[in-house]
Amino acid sequence: MLSMRVLFFLLAFLSLNVAHAQVFRIGINPKQNYSRVKFSNASSNYLIVGDSILIGILTANASCEVVKNSSGNLDVIFEGVRKAGLKNIKLIGLQNEGFVSFTGLSPITKERSFEGDFSIGLFSGKLKVINEIELEDYLRGVLESEAGIGQKEEYYKVQAVISRTFALKEINKHEHEGFNLCNQVHCQAYLGKGSGIKSIETAIQKTHKLVLLNTSGNFAPTYFSANCGGQTCDPIQVWNHSIDGIYSIRDTFCIRTKQAHWTSSIPYSDWKKFFVEKYNFPIDDSLSLRFLNDFPLVNRTGFYAHPGYGVPMRDLRERFNLKSSFFSAKLDNGKILLHGRGYGHGVGLCQEGAMTMVKLQYDFTQILGFYFPDFRLDYAFNAKFLE
Ligand SMILES: [Zn+2]
Ligand SMILES: [Zn+2]
Repeated sequence: MLSMRVLFFLLAFLSLNVAHAQVFRIGINPKQNYSRVKFSNASSNYLIVGDSILIGILTANASCEVVKNSSGNLDVIFEGVRKAGLKNIKLIGLQNEGFVSFTGLSPITKERSFEGDFSIGLFSGKLKVINEIELEDYLRGVLESEAGIGQKEEYYKVQAVISRTFALKEINKHEHEGFNLCNQVHCQAYLGKGSGIKSIETAIQKTHKLVLLNTSGNFAPTYFSANCGGQTCDPIQVWNHSIDGIYSIRDTFCIRTKQAHWTSSIPYSDWKKFFVEKYNFPIDDSLSLRFLNDFPLVNRTGFYAHPGYGVPMRDLRERFNLKSSFFSAKLDNGKILLHGRGYGHGVGLCQEGAMTMVKLQYDFTQILGFYFPDFRLDYAFNAKFLE
């Protein structure tokens, strides 16, 4: 067991070590209402600290559990001893690039390894697991989760800039829950430390501190989706409000990729029922009925057939579980056949289009410039404070 004096020096040393790094607090699976979690398989020693008092050292072969007890406080169970009635527990790694596995025991969630430290606390009576990690280390996990393995380094550079910009722009997104960002798609997928892919590491280093700034000098909104279907989407069509610097552009880079086209078939009765019951669609009018049964695809549009009918394409996407809100419709033999384009909301950067651009030897600055023509690449420290 370490003495308090040794602990003091260790903590002072650790805080000196990270003095210049930007540490993010990432909520791990915050929608899970955990009552029992476990930490194990540490790559190096971790201090277990409960309410600022050292409880023990988690070594590679050991594990510790944190339980929310019946009086609403936290207990730590370590080496068969229960230390009860705590408010906050920290796991502090003693080695750079160390990692530890986190598992939910109640409810059960998959074991995943994370770099950085952990802070387990109570927020509005709920147990919250927060991974405290430097931005660039966090990005390694994000890039593998969001872009997958097997991409070219240049593509990872694109993703590094947009994910770094997103993290900095949305740093207060979960402020009301006691952390910066969550590890889910709601913010950016971050499924742990990643598997050490060299091209991800290099892409992060080569774009170090680079972000996109908007014309006011603030962090830019760097939305992206899997495939835009040949035309990116104006934010107003999906989210009902416009976003400065993001508008619809033509994209010929993604139209021959695997998610460029989709089809779907819906029973006509379901289709008609939805239009009539939800939107009072005038099927007694022959022109309107013709639209209901035959809507050709030309350009992306916010509303089906005509804005006057008030049927948003995004509502149809949600109701019929479609890959995108960019499609045509035609009645055929008692069914409505939909021919659609793209996958995802379609706003901002198109991932499959960007991958094609990489194959065609465009570099990451050109790719970002194509999808975000109004934003400029700059260092994060040149950003103004957010409005
Ligand atoms: Zn989130
Ligand atoms: Zn595209």
